Amino acid sequence: MEKLKCKYCGAELDKVLLPPDNDWGVEYLMVCMNNDCSYYVKGWEWMREKYNVKASYRYKLNTFYGDDGPLSIRSPEDYTGWVVKKFSDKEGE
Ligand SMILES: [Zn+2]
Repeated sequence: MEKLKCKYCGAELDKVLLPPDNDWGVEYLMVCMNNDCSYYVKGWEWMREKYNVKASYRYKLNTFYGDDGPLSIRSPEDYTGWVVKKFSDKEGE
């Protein structure tokens, strides 16, 4: 499978597993977890200016339906615990 990248920052998207009863109705989403991503950084400013809330969004791609868009978050830690880590076969350094 070809690597999926964020269309805003070019970072590789991470696979984020979702709980079974999630609103998306899918097993997982591909999400840009880069904290320097322009989309994510501007999201904080935009949400504060428009809605006066502390929130932002990350770029997400739903590979099941082929649609992309914002994944709203409330804290930089949101979803980070659900990222599927990539384990290598060897113990690298
Ligand atoms: Zn990005």
